[in-house]
Amino acid sequence: MQEPLVPGEFDLIDLYFRRRSARGDVILGIGDDAAVLTVPAARQLAVTVDTLVAGVHFPAATDPAAIGHKALAVNLSDLAAMGAEPAWVALSLTLPQPEPRWLEAFAEGFFALAEQYGVSLVGGDTTRGPLSITVQASGFVPPGMDVRRSGAHVGDAIYVTGTLGDAGLGLAWQQGRRTLEASDGAAMRARLDCPTPRVEAGLVLRGRASAAIDVSDGLAGDLRHVLRASGVGAVLDVDALPVSAVVAGQADARELALSAGDDYELLFTVAPDRAGAILAGMDELALRCTCIGRIVSEPGLQLTDAAGQPFVTPVTAGYDHFREND
Ligand code: ADP
Ligand code: MG
Repeated sequence: MQEPLVPGEFDLIDLYFRRRSARGDVILGIGDDAAVLTVPAARQLAVTVDTLVAGVHFPAATDPAAIGHKALAVNLSDLAAMGAEPAWVALSLTLPQPEPRWLEAFAEGFFALAEQYGVSLVGGDTTRGPLSITVQASGFVPPGMDVRRSGAHVGDAIYVTGTLGDAGLGLAWQQGRRTLEASDGAAMRARLDCPTPRVEAGLVLRGRASAAIDVSDGLAGDLRHVLRASGVGAVLDVDALPVSAVVAGQADARELALSAGDDYELLFTVAPDRAGAILAGMDELALRCTCIGRIVSEPGLQLTDAAGQPFVTPVTAGYDHFREND
C-alpha cells in the first residue's frame, strides 16, 4: 500500500498543532477531552472567540501563513482591548481537505505570533467543510481592571493607536478597486494580512483608560459601539485622524480613516488627568497614539474638520454581517 498523501485528523493534530507548552500553567494541553489550566491567584479570566471565514474575512487564496497569523491576531486584539494579558488559545479548524503544505504554513504563521506573546495552544477541534478558522483566546486581568466599552465619560479625550485606513486600502488595492505603487500596495496588504495586535498597549490602558475597543470594523462604527454602551456622544476631528503617508496620498484619506476595517488599532477614552500616564506608556512602546476627539453628553457622533466645520460623509456605518454593506 502507498503512503497516504494526506494526514488523518489525529496525525494532522499531532503533526501541526501539538507542541510542548512553555507555560507552567498548562497542566494538560492538546490530547485529552479538555485542557486543564491554572488561573493565577488574584486574576480574572477574559475570554473571547472570533471566526474567520474564507471569502468573507479573507480571500480563499490568501497566504496560509497570513491566515494563521490573522486568526490569532484578531483574538489577541480583542484581549488587548480589554486590558487582558493573553495566555491560552484553542483553535477550531474546518478544512475542505488536509493539505500538508497549507497546514504547515498556517501553523507557522499561527505559532510565530503565539510565541511572540508567550501564548499556548491548548486544544481545539478539526472538521471537514468550507475553510473556516475559529480561535478562542483567554487572558488574565486583575479584578476590576478590565477596560470596557461602557466606561466613557463626558469630558474624556478619545485616542487611537497607530494609523487608520491602511488595511482597507490594501484590500481595495488587492481587489483592483484602487491603483497604488506596487511597494505601497504591498505595505498596505501587509497591514491587512498580518495585523499587529496591540497587546502591550492594552496593558498600558489597564486601570487607566475609561473605555476601549479594537478597531476591526472601521473607526466610526466601532466608536459608536463605545458611545452606545457608555450612553454618551462624541465630537471627532477628522483632520486629526492618524494616517500613513500612503493613505494620506488618497483623495478620500479621511473617509478611509473613518470607515475602513481590519486595522486592529486600539481606540480608547481617558479622563484628562490620566492621559499623561497612558501617553508615557505608549511612548515607551514607541507606538503612535493620537488624540482625535472628545466625549460629549449629546448622543451620537459629530464629525468636524480642523476648522471646526461639520464634516459630512455617508461612509461611517461600520461593517455588519447581516446588513447590506457596500
Ligand atoms: P474530542 O473528540 O474529545 O472533541 P478531538 O478528537 O476533537 O477530541 O481532539 C483531540 C484532541 O486534539 C483534543 O485535546 C483537542 O483539544 C485537540 N485538537 C483537535 N483539533 C485541534 C486543533 N486544530 N488545534 C489544536 N488542538 C486540537
Ligand atoms: Mg472534537
